[in-house]
Amino acid sequence: MGENRFDPLDLDDDVKNYTNSRARENAELIEGHIREILRLIGEDPDREGLLDTPRRVRRMYEEIFAGYEVDPRELLGVSFDEKHEELVIVKDIVFYSQCEHHMAPFFGKAHIGYIPSGRIAGLSKFARLVDAVTRRLQVQERITSEIADIFEEVLKPHGTMVVVEAEHLCMCSRGVKKYGSKTLTSAVRGQFRTDSKLREEFMSLIRS
Ligand code: ZN
Repeated sequence: MGENRFDPLDLDDDVKNYTNSRARENAELIEGHIREILRLIGEDPDREGLLDTPRRVRRMYEEIFAGYEVDPRELLGVSFDEKHEELVIVKDIVFYSQCEHHMAPFFGKAHIGYIPSGRIAGLSKFARLVDAVTRRLQVQERITSEIADIFEEVLKPHGTMVVVEAEHLCMCSRGVKKYGSKTLTSAVRGQFRTDSKLREEFMSLIRS
């Protein structure tokens, strides 16, 4: 049996085609440190089940921290369309990230809406952007605002709204700590700030 590739997201190949090259370059050092942590918590890093663990963890880091490899601003691939100035939404963009306080996973979905003002982004680029922003050490609030700010900066739309829903496997999420509970965050920019009808339209469309 071959080794199972770490694949938390099942993303399209074009999204997965980059990895954290520093983790690869520093493979020996990282694996040595993982081994040392195993020893320091009272484990025997030489027992059979753990022998390959440092290498597996390092390879996992190459994937889950691949976001450092790219500038998310460059991923939107702007094109121009003067005519379309209506709400565009891409919802249910699955992501998998690591909380920067505990290096523990949190994962969920991002929903992005914007009103173009001449510049538009290819719909497939939305997932690429979310991928680049989330495959890092993050907090959910910053993921949400970074996506909104990048849309504002790159596309200069009339407005942007981002909602992120996630489950956290650590103690850093707010609210009730219950298995299966979700944390929701939102960021609104431009017209979405002042137009409550627009926010309602966005919310009802991502829920439908
Ligand atoms: Zn945490």
